[in-house]
Amino acid sequence: MTDRQLSVLVVEDEGSFVEALVVSLEREGFKVRVARDGIQALELFDEFRPDLVLLDLMLPRLPGLDVCRSIRSRSAVPIIILTAKGTEVDTVVGLEVGADDYVTKPFRMRELVARIRAVLRRGAGGIGTGSEVRPEVVSVGDVSLNTSKHEVTVAGSEVKLPLKEFELLELLLVNAGRVLTRDTLIDRVWGPDYVGDTKTLDVHIKRLRSRIDPGASASSLITTIRGLGYRFEMPPRPGS
Ligand code: CA
Repeated sequence: MTDRQLSVLVVEDEGSFVEALVVSLEREGFKVRVARDGIQALELFDEFRPDLVLLDLMLPRLPGLDVCRSIRSRSAVPIIILTAKGTEVDTVVGLEVGADDYVTKPFRMRELVARIRAVLRRGAGGIGTGSEVRPEVVSVGDVSLNTSKHEVTVAGSEVKLPLKEFELLELLLVNAGRVLTRDTLIDRVWGPDYVGDTKTLDVHIKRLRSRIDPGASASSLITTIRGLGYRFEMPPRPGS
């Protein structure tokens, strides 16, 4: 953690909800500004240059998805979408036009703050392990993956993984705490020209879970986000 106060632009038009959000974020040490509609969001974004944007999708004047696209076209700032239940389609589009994660309303403040910290820790700039330099070792909780040795350990014990499962795990670990859409996973692991059955992905995830997380319930490390994709869960922070 740096000493500098991190800033968050909240884009949301529901009054009482915004107030509660601002109070909570300020209590967490963030500097907060609020935009009440899509146009104001873009104006404030340019003026305020926040470290992170919390973006509601249903906004007056300019829809949240357009705001997301517009911000992403000029900045790699992390964007977390605030979404209402039953708007999964918009959420998928939001992730595809560059949002980093989403949180479904109603949510607990603690969950939102954990997501904010996870996204900020990863730093700005889209989904990891694209063309950037691959880190040699990626560790999240008990799971550790070494890209150069092609080795995976879970709580210190080595686990053998076939290539596709290894690649899936790497992508999930590098982006831990963030939802990866099915399209993104298939695209990155099987390539953009893949035309096979999309069930292939689910089968690989199932096998991967059984290898890295055999004793636990099916979804404890890798969560299925229905209609969207998968997320590797960040371990709880000590004391939280
Ligand atoms: Ca709204």
